[in-house]
Amino acid sequence: MIPLGSASFKLLAVNAEIIAVGSELLTPFRSDTNSLYLTDQLNQLGVEVIFKSVVGDDFKRLVAAAQHALFRSEIVIFSGGLGPTEDDLTREAVAEALGLSLRRNEEVLAAIEQRFSSRGWKMSPNNAKQADVLEGAVVLHNANGTAPGQWVSGKFEGRDRIVILLPGPPHELKALFESECRERLRTKLPPAFLATRVLKVAMLGESHVDARVSPIYKRYCNVQTTILAGAGEIELHFKARGDTMEAAQARVDEAADAVEEELEDAVYSRDGQSLEQIVGYWMQMRGATLAVAESCTGGLLAERITSVAGSSRYFLGGAIVYSNALKTELAGVPADMIERHGAVSREVAAALAEGIRYRCESTLGVGITGVAGPGGGTAVKPVGLVFHALASASGTEVIERHFPGDRKRIRRFASTLALDMVRRKLM
Ligand code: AMP
Ligand code: MG
Repeated sequence: MIPLGSASFKLLAVNAEIIAVGSELLTPFRSDTNSLYLTDQLNQLGVEVIFKSVVGDDFKRLVAAAQHALFRSEIVIFSGGLGPTEDDLTREAVAEALGLSLRRNEEVLAAIEQRFSSRGWKMSPNNAKQADVLEGAVVLHNANGTAPGQWVSGKFEGRDRIVILLPGPPHELKALFESECRERLRTKLPPAFLATRVLKVAMLGESHVDARVSPIYKRYCNVQTTILAGAGEIELHFKARGDTMEAAQARVDEAADAVEEELEDAVYSRDGQSLEQIVGYWMQMRGATLAVAESCTGGLLAERITSVAGSSRYFLGGAIVYSNALKTELAGVPADMIERHGAVSREVAAALAEGIRYRCESTLGVGITGVAGPGGGTAVKPVGLVFHALASASGTEVIERHFPGDRKRIRRFASTLALDMVRRKLM
């Protein structure tokens, strides 16, 4: 690479690639979160991330990864491997891939020594290699650690490239990106704005949603779309570029509005808010109060409702009625009803909702009873069968569902459906 320090250097295309360095990131115990942060930051600058990789602390593999990245991406950001130890090899590998020398920077070295002495420590000799700087690189001051970041821009195989080296600890990387990289990058990029929108959908299957929205997606080919599915909740992400933020926003809005029209009231959120927050919004709009009696969800529903700040304005509380005795004692479910229909039944769910509503004197009462598994299922009442009831002044509605998945997923599904019943009732 021929480094170009000149201020006139500007990229024409805007694709980026992130390489997370560290053998610990290839174990089951640590995940690469830095690249998520960096992707968000780059997207906000109108830059798309087209590749990400995780590479262990291995010189040859790092050089190969760096070379691949430099061939296909205009911006290459490295995270990690800038420490003082033997296995921190990012500087050396990038120097090799770019064909640049590393030089010890006396100013950086003095700053590292100063950092140690200000704490009354003596710098150990291996820390000196953190002062090795790529030929032509700008040193990015790291206020939170010893390893500075580095920034090199120039021609690689005749093409304009920006290469950024950042330290691995997330708080150091974030602070350094914000203080030293964001504005510097902005000045190197053509004006491009990236707008995003998220629609959230409750209680529709992923393939069902996909079938309904894909004809719409085809009409908006300059809008990028992603579908993310969870237990009972689906997120539809929209992303579009424009020469101005207004133009980019208009593109995503047009596509998102068309999808919303298709999915109607299954869309519960248009701006990223959670189902719990939306329920809170409607509860307050209607001046309603809520109480819950939970069996198989064991308090998960109440936990989700109360995760919203200010939920005390509409959530009164309720009971976790796991045993049959407590279903009777705390929610007033007649013992003979449990005996006749079983604890997991339409009747008991309705009685839970009505009983807790009556005892708490709330506008709405929710009852949930089901088989979360993995044991306890029968041919008639299999694992995943859940009854959800919502009691109000106008009567009691019960929904029976058979959810797929493990215990955790079934409980999540059940709490989501209950929240969605409340939302629909209030809308
Ligand atoms: P390093 O700069 O490679 O010495 O990384 C120092 C520490 O930062 C590691 O031990 C990790 O705990 C953390 N770290 C490194 N890379 C990442 C990453 N991509 N995502 C999250 N944490 C990281
Ligand atoms: Mg490391």
